[in-house]
Amino acid sequence: MSDRGLSEDQRLMRQSCRDFVDKVVTPFIRANWQREWIMEPNERLPKEILEGAEKVGIRTLGVPEEFGGIELDKASEVRTFAIIAEEIARGDSGLADKLVQNWKVSVLLRQFAPKHLQQKWFKRLLEDPQFLLAHCLTEPRGASDRWLPYNVPEAAMQTRAVKKGKDWIINGRKHFISNGYDAGLYVVYANTNTSVGMLQGTSSFLVPRDTPGLTVARCNETVGCRFMNNGEIAFDDMRVPEDHLLVESDALGKAGIYFRPGKIIQAAKNLGVGVAAFERTAEYVQNYVQGGRILIKHQAVALRLADMATRIEAVRALLERASRAVDDNAPDADVLCNMVKVFASEEILKVAQNAMELHGGSGAMLDVGIEKLFRDAAIFLHMDATVDISRLKIIKAMFPATAGKYAGPEN
Ligand SMILES: Cc1cc2nc3c(=O)[nH]c(=O)nc-3n(C[C@H](O)[C@H](O)[C@H](O)COP(=O)(O)OP(=O)(O)OC[C@H]3O[C@@H](n4cnc5c(N)ncnc54)[C@H](O)[C@@H]3O)c2cc1C
Repeated sequence: MSDRGLSEDQRLMRQSCRDFVDKVVTPFIRANWQREWIMEPNERLPKEILEGAEKVGIRTLGVPEEFGGIELDKASEVRTFAIIAEEIARGDSGLADKLVQNWKVSVLLRQFAPKHLQQKWFKRLLEDPQFLLAHCLTEPRGASDRWLPYNVPEAAMQTRAVKKGKDWIINGRKHFISNGYDAGLYVVYANTNTSVGMLQGTSSFLVPRDTPGLTVARCNETVGCRFMNNGEIAFDDMRVPEDHLLVESDALGKAGIYFRPGKIIQAAKNLGVGVAAFERTAEYVQNYVQGGRILIKHQAVALRLADMATRIEAVRALLERASRAVDDNAPDADVLCNMVKVFASEEILKVAQNAMELHGGSGAMLDVGIEKLFRDAAIFLHMDATVDISRLKIIKAMFPATAGKYAGPEN
């Protein structure tokens, strides 16, 4: 990627992140393909990797300067998130997942958490390189209704919060949560009014991991991004003090502050996986010989490589446009975020497929690591809404008067 359009700060941050990825992350990933398959989640990623991320300043983006963070220029913050997320994911997409949850949740906390709780939790986050944040919306009954949204009482969140005296009592379950297995602090969404739809009756809460009644039920073992421990969390008469309420009633309406950068970051991580697939394939086809010449000299191979490069550039161009729209708070920011989420998910999966095919049988071998990029790319189809739900959101936003609700009774 060229430096074109990058500020000096962005260029320097990207360079130190790139050095960390090239010297630490990529060698770690390439050294032992079995590591991601360790079934003890806490043992997969050595502590030194997050410590290294901390040293180059990419673990706690989004934390305000007044609480010890490195404040990014607000006019280009989301663009900077995208640039750094791409670089980390070029090394490992699961590591990128772990880190970006910290950024995204920090953005949400700095907007909605009371100052004394920001003071307390940003301090904890900054002090401990292993400290992770998580954002808990999805429940076993399904997430698409929430993304659309399907705004009727029957489809409301099943996790419920009820006010008792000065506390909220929360009962329910969240699953598929990024960092859900090992986060120290969770943002949890719960229904606080059963008579209205989720847009009017959902509130969000700050929930420390050690809150009595909170159980980390399991680590969800995933096909890709395996260095991020996705988790399931249960709440059983869990009591949180009233000052831990972040947003009352319209928490979903206000969650755009998290979702917009979130979709940009998803697409950027996706792009990083594509760049890694392209770099490895470009190297391979310029060295490996069949038919008496290196692969790149066969036209069929050259065409595929050109196709991979073009898809990557097209994703990058849309990503840049969408991230600028979010930074500018432009009216088309939501549409562009959904477009880039869909486009990146599908185009980068094709890039990864080409990488696997051009590596021949080696592309399918675990110890070679090309199939890992394909598995990592496949995960993005499902994150921050499915591609189909994102498409429906594009059309609903573009044609609000005529597009349907895409949910509800058939007639
Ligand atoms: C790796 C990973 C990390 C994740 N991290 C988080 C996280 O940090 N926090 C969090 O809250 N969630 C997280 N999720 C959950 C994610 O947001 C959901 O999995 C995703 O939104 C899809 O929801 P679902 O799994 O419930 O599928 P469902 O909603 O059950 O959908 C199943 C299928 O039906 C289709 N469908 C559903 N409704 C409609 C409709 N009305 N019209 C047309 N098609 C429809 C969908 O497109 C999909 O193909 C994560 C998921 C993954 C895989």
